[in-house]
Order: sequence, then C-alpha cells, then structure tokens
Amino acid sequence: MEKAKIRLHVEHHLGQGQPLPLNEAQAHYLVSVMRQGVGARVTVFNGTDGEWQAEITRAAKRGGDLVCVAQSGPQLSPPDLWLLFAPIKKARTDFIVEKATELGVAAIFPVQTRFTNSERLRQDKLQAHAVEAAEQCGGTYVPMVHDIQNIWKVLDNWVVTGQSVRQILWADKSLVGAGETLEALAERASTFATGPQPWAILIGPEGGFSTTEREKLRALPFVHPISLGPRILRADTAVCAAVTLWQTALGDWA
Ligand code: SAH
Repeated sequence: MEKAKIRLHVEHHLGQGQPLPLNEAQAHYLVSVMRQGVGARVTVFNGTDGEWQAEITRAAKRGGDLVCVAQSGPQLSPPDLWLLFAPIKKARTDFIVEKATELGVAAIFPVQTRFTNSERLRQDKLQAHAVEAAEQCGGTYVPMVHDIQNIWKVLDNWVVTGQSVRQILWADKSLVGAGETLEALAERASTFATGPQPWAILIGPEGGFSTTEREKLRALPFVHPISLGPRILRADTAVCAAVTLWQTALGDWA
C-alpha cells in the first residue's frame, strides 16, 4: 500500500471510517505548513492501533478533519526498556529524548541526583519532542516522558517482587576497563527470569554520582554496572551508546 509521507500522531482510536478531528496545531501543520487540502492522504498512528492511512475531509487554518481509510502497518512497540537519566542542558536533554525514541525505549524518566544541574524541565515540551521523533522515524509508538523525580523516589519504589524484576543497566564511568561485559550480562540475563524481561538503563549527570549514591546503587541487586569504553562520554552520547548496546544484546535489533 502506498503510504503518505506526512506522518501524524493522533490521540483518537483508529479504525475503518473513524473520524479524526484535528486540533489547531495539527491543522496549522497540515494546511499552512505542509499545504495539504481536502482529499490529501496522511499517515496516522496513536501508539496502540498500528499505522493507518487517513484522508483530509475538511481543511481550515484553525481546524479540520481526517477520516481513517485503511490500516497500512501493524502496531510496533519497542521492548520494555526504560531510560532513566539525569537531565543536562535543555538542547542536550531534548536530544536525549529524541534519540531514545528513535533507538527504541518504552518510557523515559528524568531523575534528579545529588549533582544534577538542570534548568527547569518542561515535561510537556519533552513529550512533544518524543511525538515528533516518533512521527519522523516511522515508529508507531511514543514513549511516555515522565515528570522529573528524585532518583531515590524512583529506585526506593522499584517493584522487586513478582516473576521478573526490572533489571537496571547502569553506565558507570568508574568501571572503565573493569566491569562485567554486556555480553556476559546478556548471557546471565536468562537467569533473572524466563522470556522477555523488563529492563532500564541509568545514565548519570555530568557531575557524576556522589560516593553515597554510588554505594547505594552498588548495593541494589537489580543494578548491573557496565563500562561504555575508555573515554568519558557526555551524558547524551552515553544514552545513545547504552541504548544501542542494549538493543543489540537484549533488545529488538537482533
Ligand atoms: N564527570 C562525570 C562524567 C559523567 S558523564 C563522572 O565522573 O562520572 C555522564 C554519564 O555518562 C555518567 O554518569 C555515566 O552514566 C555515563 N558515562 C560516560 N562515560 C562513560 C563510560 N566510559 N563508561 C560508563 N558510563 C559512562
């Protein structure tokens, strides 16, 4: 099936004949920016119902409507991988959300650590970056970007009961040349649980973790420190490297 190049994330349920009212921002983008009119096709997805082709039935500057015509692809969700990272400067934090979405994570948790030096985080803006990244990378899934929380609020409430505890891959700079390799960890992973397991990646702040934080992290049985090579990567680079490694060893790139 011919797919329309313009891709739009929508909030509505998708199904044959389903009307999709456009909000002002979507209408502005389709009509004023992309110069689309009645009869033009758009590719739409909502994060759960796969990918659909829709047709514009009303096009105005401040609003409009689409109607779902046919499904053009299945729902493809990433593996159950969360990204926990200490936010850095705005442009680099935006980059982290965009790249994590493209590389394939299921949820994003900005976390506050002792030495996190971030400006105020706008969760809504970061979520919009994830939507845009999903639209442009051909994905049908948008990771939920959570509000920033203290790292211990997240880790102290980690669900550690039940069949499969979410394991954390911690990119730990102090391990360079020492820690467990990801290959060894991937081999060991089948002993944590059977079947696909939930994971998270933890990337620290530019200022590093404090000694106390480091000790607390090391004491958690579900935290696995690994090295990302002999050079110190900036946090945004470390996110891309760690997600890439995880996807190759344990995720959906294999
Ligand atoms: N000066 C800081 C550097 C932080 S780099 C420090 O002493 O830790 C930002 C984050 O990227 C780190 O917290 C770590 O999670 C990750 N990182 C960067 N380079 C790494 C490497 N070579 N191995 C493992 N993790 C690394």
